[in-house]
Amino acid sequence: MKRRKFFKLSTASLVGAGLAPSVVSAAGSTSVKTIADRSNDNWTHLGEGRSVTPNRQFSKHYDVAVLGGGAAGICAAVSAARLGSKVVLVQDRPVLGGNASSEMRVHLNGVNRLKTGLAERETGIIEEMLLLNRFDNPQESFPVWDHVLYDFVMREPNIELMLNTQAIEAIMDGDNIKSARCWQLTTEKEFLIHANYFIDCSGDGLLAATAGAKYRTGREGKKEFNETFAPDEPDGWQMGASLLMSSTDMGKPMPYRAPAWAIPFDAENAHKKRKFNAYHEGVWWIEIGSDDDIISDQEINRHKLMGHLHGLWDYIKNSGKFPESENLALTWVGSLPSRRESRRFIGDYIHSERDLTGYKHFDDAVAFGGWGIDEHNPGGMENIHMAPTIFHAHFEEVYQVPFRSLYSVNVPNLLFAGRNISQTHIALASSRIMATCALMGQAVGTAAHLCTQKKVNPRELGKKHINELQEQLMRDDVFIPKRPANDPKDLAKKAAEIVASSTKSGNAKLLTNGWSRDIDGKIHHWQSATLPADVQMEWVDSVKLSTIEIKCDTNVKRNIMMRKDSKNDDRFTNTVPEEMVKSLSVEARIKGRWKTLATNVENQKRLIRFTFDDINTTAIRVRVTETYGKPTVKLFEIRAYA
Ligand SMILES: Cc1cc2nc3c(=O)[nH]c(=O)nc-3n(C[C@H](O)[C@H](O)[C@H](O)COP(=O)(O)OP(=O)(O)OC[C@H]3O[C@@H](n4cnc5c(N)ncnc54)[C@H](O)[C@@H]3O)c2cc1C
Repeated sequence: MKRRKFFKLSTASLVGAGLAPSVVSAAGSTSVKTIADRSNDNWTHLGEGRSVTPNRQFSKHYDVAVLGGGAAGICAAVSAARLGSKVVLVQDRPVLGGNASSEMRVHLNGVNRLKTGLAERETGIIEEMLLLNRFDNPQESFPVWDHVLYDFVMREPNIELMLNTQAIEAIMDGDNIKSARCWQLTTEKEFLIHANYFIDCSGDGLLAATAGAKYRTGREGKKEFNETFAPDEPDGWQMGASLLMSSTDMGKPMPYRAPAWAIPFDAENAHKKRKFNAYHEGVWWIEIGSDDDIISDQEINRHKLMGHLHGLWDYIKNSGKFPESENLALTWVGSLPSRRESRRFIGDYIHSERDLTGYKHFDDAVAFGGWGIDEHNPGGMENIHMAPTIFHAHFEEVYQVPFRSLYSVNVPNLLFAGRNISQTHIALASSRIMATCALMGQAVGTAAHLCTQKKVNPRELGKKHINELQEQLMRDDVFIPKRPANDPKDLAKKAAEIVASSTKSGNAKLLTNGWSRDIDGKIHHWQSATLPADVQMEWVDSVKLSTIEIKCDTNVKRNIMMRKDSKNDDRFTNTVPEEMVKSLSVEARIKGRWKTLATNVENQKRLIRFTFDDINTTAIRVRVTETYGKPTVKLFEIRAYA
C-alpha cells in the first residue's frame, strides 16, 4: 500500500475508534469536541448517591513550560527553576531521561572522545545528574537511573513534574504561544498550561509544530550551506529509530526460538561494517529511517524493528556463527524505538557543518559539542548492504552552539533544545548526542528565566543581554569555549592576594582567571602538594559576603556516564571520580579572628556553593581535607558574592 494512502486510512480508523477528537456538524457549522469534553459521561456515583460528570479539565499557570523530559528538558527545567522561575516539566512517558531512560537504554554520551583521544566532558547540570547517579546507583541499573533522575527533579521546589502527560497542541495569542493543551494518559485529564515562555525539548516538537513554528525535515543539498558531507541534492531522509536489547549469561545453554514475525537477518548482503561487537548488550544498527514522515511511520517501524531485533538474535543464537552465545538469553528488550531525528525547527541561525568543522566563534555561544559527525545510513536495516554509519569527521577541539539556533524565528516566546534545534541534518549528526543536548537545555532554561525577569523575548535577550546569559551559565558551571567568565559581581576578582598552603601544579592565582578547566593546552588550575590544603584570599578593604562558590576537579577528560558494559579504564570510570572534593570548609577572618562559615563533609558536586548570613571580612580561607581518592586536591575556580 502506498504510504500516503495508508496515512489517510489510519486517521479515519482512529476517528472511528473514538481515539481522535470527533467532528460534530450542526446546521452548517462544524465544531470539534475536545478529548476532555465529558458531556456524554454519565457516572452513577454510588458513594455520592447521584449522577455526576467527572471534571477532567484544568488550567495551570507557570513562568516557563518545558515540554519533554529527556536530558535537554530536565536541564532546561532545573536551570530555570533554580534561578527562581515557576516551571512545569511535561513528559509523556512514566519516566524521565528520554532515550537514556530504562525504556530505551541509550548511553548518555557527550564529547567523550576528541582526536586527542580524550574526552572534554560537559559540566553544569548534566554532570551533576551523572555524578548523583554514581553515588546513588553504583550498581548501574537503568530502572534505578530513572529514579535518580526523578529524585534530581523532585529536589527542585519550583518544578511541577507532570509525567504521562503529552503536550498535544499550542493555543496561540497572535504569534505567541499562550498555552499548551496537554493530555494526561493516566488520569483522563486535559491541562491547559499557560506560561510566558515555552521550551520544546520533546525531540519531535509537536507543540512547536502546532504553534506554526517553521521547521524542516530531511537532508539539505550540498549547496545550501556549502556542506561537504551533504548529498548533492536535498532529499527527505532522516536517520532512523532503533530498538536495543540486553542479554545475560544464564550459566547453562539457553535455546532461543524466534517469533513468527521475526525478520530473518540477511547476513549474505549485510555490509561488513555491520559488526557484532558487544552484541550481548544490543546492536545499535537495528535501525529504520524514513524519507518521508518518520513520526507518522513510528508504529509501522516499531513492528519492523521488533522483527529485525528477533531476526538478528535468532541469527546470533542459531546460525552457529556465535558459539559463545550458547548460554546467553535476552533479559531485556526495548519496545519503544528511540529516535535520532525528525523535526528541526528554524531559529535566527541555522547551525551547519562548516560551523562545526571550522570551529566558528559565535559571540552568542552558549553550549558546545564535539561528538564526531556520525551520519547513519538512511535506510537502516532496509539498506543492509550499506555501512550503518559514516563517521565523516572527528574533532580536534570542541565547537560552539549559538543561542540564535535555540529559539524560533517566527514564534517569539518559543525556545528549543535537543535534537530539534535550528541546524542542518549534517550538524545534527554530531550535536544530537545527549550531553550536548543537555547543555543546550541549561542554556535555554537560563535564558527563559532571564526573559521572564526582563520581560523580553529570546531574540531581544540574545541581542541585548547575551553577556548576562553567558555569565550566568558559566557561574552555574557551564563551559563556553573561548569565552572566559568575567562576572562583575564576583568579588573574588577584586582580591589583592590569593595564596595556597602548598602547590604541586598550577597556581592559586589562576582560580580567578575565569577559566573553569584546563583547555587548549593551557593550565587553569591550582593543585595542592598534600592534603589538607588551604587557599586564602585577601582583600585590602573589608567586603560584604554571603556566598562562596568553588569549582573542583572531576576530571573532565574521563567519561562518567553509565554504560551497559560498565567500563572502567583510562577513558571511562564507573565510580565517583577520585579527583572530586569530598570534604571541605570555608572560613572567614572577622575582626582578626578566623571563623568557620560552612562545612561540607559529603560533597557530591563539582560546583560547591556555600551560602551563609552576611559577613564583613578581609579574608576567606577554603580548607580541603579529603577527596574521593586522590592524595592532593585540584581546584579551578573560587568566587565570592555579596
Ligand atoms: C539507538 C540510538 C543510539 C544513540 N546513541 C547515542 C549515544 O550513544 N549517546 C548519545 O548521547 N546519544 C545517542 N543517540 C542520540 C540521542 O539519544 C538523541 O539525539 C537524544 O536523545 C535527543 O535528546 P532530546 O532531549 O532532544 O530528546 P529525547 O531524549 O528523545 O527526549 C525527549 C522526551 O520528550 C518526550 N516527548 C516527546 N513528545 C512529547 C510531547 N508532545 N509532550 C511531552 N513529552 C514529549 C519523549 O517521550 C522523550 O522522553 C542515539 C539515538 C538512538 C536512537
